Amino acid sequence: MSAELNLVLLGPPGAGKGTQAERLRADFSLPYLATGDMLRKHVKDGTAIGVKARAYMDAGDLVPDELIIAMILEEIDAQGDDGFLLDGFPRTVPQADALDEAIAGRGRRLTAVLLIDADDECVIKRISGRRVAANGRVYHIASDPPVTEGVDDEEGKPLVQRDDDKPETVRQRLRTYHEQTVPLIDYYEGRGLLHRFDGSRSPAEVAEHIRATLSTLRLEETL
Ligand code: AMP
Repeated sequence: MSAELNLVLLGPPGAGKGTQAERLRADFSLPYLATGDMLRKHVKDGTAIGVKARAYMDAGDLVPDELIIAMILEEIDAQGDDGFLLDGFPRTVPQADALDEAIAGRGRRLTAVLLIDADDECVIKRISGRRVAANGRVYHIASDPPVTEGVDDEEGKPLVQRDDDKPETVRQRLRTYHEQTVPLIDYYEGRGLLHRFDGSRSPAEVAEHIRATLSTLRLEETL
């Protein structure tokens, strides 16, 4: 039997999903499909999707389901044959239903949903110090600073703050999370797929807990 891992990362903005994803990708060699990254690339490239998505993103709102669902299912088909790690999708119940239906139609199912949880105060603190490099590498001015302030260690280019990481937008993103994404916690818990991790712990501790959970799940899959 295949031990394919089909994983979803869930949690508020700034809980550390991207940081954990980096480790998981390396440990389990899974394709990483992050809707936020995909959308930012569309915006940068000025594609039709980017043009439509931009105003929603800048306001801290969700991009309409139809647009997101088509975009991500295409990527799962293109890259996710032997498992995947989704970050930032699904974010609404209709998105979760669409994912279920699409992967069930391909004879597959989700392995686990990893909820990295953290309260609003903690994520606001994290996000306000977040800086990103042009190549996507993420730093934190206090907990993970670059060697030279304000520039990327690898390419030496200036670090920037994401437009939607400004405090007013972060507050709206959190409201959106509580209203539209938190219902997915019950949704996945009811299906026995949810695993909770404390995102206020250090990245190394969270990674260790996730690794242990996934090793057990993988073992169970092969039995
Ligand atoms: P993220 O990088 O995951 O925080 O996503 C940045 C922004 O992209 C979000 O605030 C939304 O505007 C948009 N976005 C990302 N993923 C989704 C999704 N699954 N559904 C709707 N909008 C999304």
